[in-house]
Amino acid sequence: MKGITVLGSTGSIGVSTLDVVARHPEKYRIIAITANLQVDKIVAQAKQFNPEYIVMANEDAAHQAEGILKQEGVCHIEVLAGTEGLEKVSSLPQVDYVMAAIVGAAGLLPSLAAAKAGKRVLLANKEALVMSGQIFIDEIKKNGAELLPIDSEHNAIFQCMPEKISYSLSDMSVSRILLTASGGPFRDRTLDELENVTPDQACAHPNWSMGRKISVDSATMMNKGLEVIEARWLFNASADDIQVVVHPQSVIHSMVQYIDGSVLAQLGNPDMRTPIAHAMAWPERIESGVENLNIFDVAHLDFVAPDFDRFPCLRLAYESLHKGGTSTAVLNAANEIAVDAFLNETISFLHIPKVIESVLNEVAVVEANHLDIILQADSEARAIAKETISRLNR
Ligand code: NDP
Repeated sequence: MKGITVLGSTGSIGVSTLDVVARHPEKYRIIAITANLQVDKIVAQAKQFNPEYIVMANEDAAHQAEGILKQEGVCHIEVLAGTEGLEKVSSLPQVDYVMAAIVGAAGLLPSLAAAKAGKRVLLANKEALVMSGQIFIDEIKKNGAELLPIDSEHNAIFQCMPEKISYSLSDMSVSRILLTASGGPFRDRTLDELENVTPDQACAHPNWSMGRKISVDSATMMNKGLEVIEARWLFNASADDIQVVVHPQSVIHSMVQYIDGSVLAQLGNPDMRTPIAHAMAWPERIESGVENLNIFDVAHLDFVAPDFDRFPCLRLAYESLHKGGTSTAVLNAANEIAVDAFLNETISFLHIPKVIESVLNEVAVVEANHLDIILQADSEARAIAKETISRLNR
């Protein structure tokens, strides 16, 4: 029986994780679930999964959750608040696996706490690796933790790699990683047509059902940029080893090309319960609730190169990765602020890359060899992004 903490249990990945857990009560036990604001949803989850802990990042929400549970006579669940609470439930001795599915930079410290505590980290929160790549990987290695990718593309790459992943791609005879991208809801739109798109249109992804932030990231293709950076750290690859391939059907979730000319791909229906179940059960397999792929329904598979002019966020991500140091943390922070402003209808869709580029040009890049330096770069980038947005609106 494995004990699991689900960070971000009320989100899209969190809910899918609980769905997989509910299918295997003899294998997994929920120790802690966490959220930010959604009190009613986490209380309902607590009643179903009976965890030892609930953590609300927001203090008021924690008080509310505690009040409701008491009123309903549920007194054995401890309710914690804030980052400290999140870090605590990521490192409890009875926890074996930590699903890191908080959205954005808020996921960094709790995910890192899981790595430091030597847990199996099921990493959905790509922003943690984008911000702190080397530090994160070092903590995983130093503490004997396991890092299993949840992002469907990285999970697919992991599945296509040799059983024993060695330090470099060349040691494994891998010549290239082919990272697939659906192209998002605006794949075929011209720049003019992107001028007035709304948040709801951006969040209407053709193939995947996801939280609003990652949905906008998919629409700008920043999601793919963040994934290139994530792949760099997960597989010790260089930016040039990773080729983005637009594959609109999202049936192939990524591929690995070997020096003998073989290309291995992982296919399946676009449902996050597959990579979640894979990472939870690895090296075994468990049933996930995902319908089998009917290969005859997949009439054909298309592949095209990405368009860096219509999707400049992807270019900015590659440039940040080449620059290195704190550049990717700055990229991530500026993106979070710009996406939030777009979702609140403060800036237009096409302003998102403009804000990010302007922040990248303003914030000095330094070596990312300490967490404090990364967090400092993150807050500086957020402040400058907010100033840039208010300048745009003057
Ligand atoms: P959602 O927006 O659906 O859920 C986010 C979760 O994080 C919620 O539980 C939310 O709580 C919690 N949360 C939000 N802000 C904070 C905060 N400041 N502190 C603590 N917790 C917070 O996101 P997704 O599930 O879509 O994505 C989660 C992560 O997984 C992201 O990093 C994303 O890039 C990655 N990912 C997602 C995929 C998907 O299919 N959705 C695919 C691959 C990767 P509350 O509900 O209370 O707001």
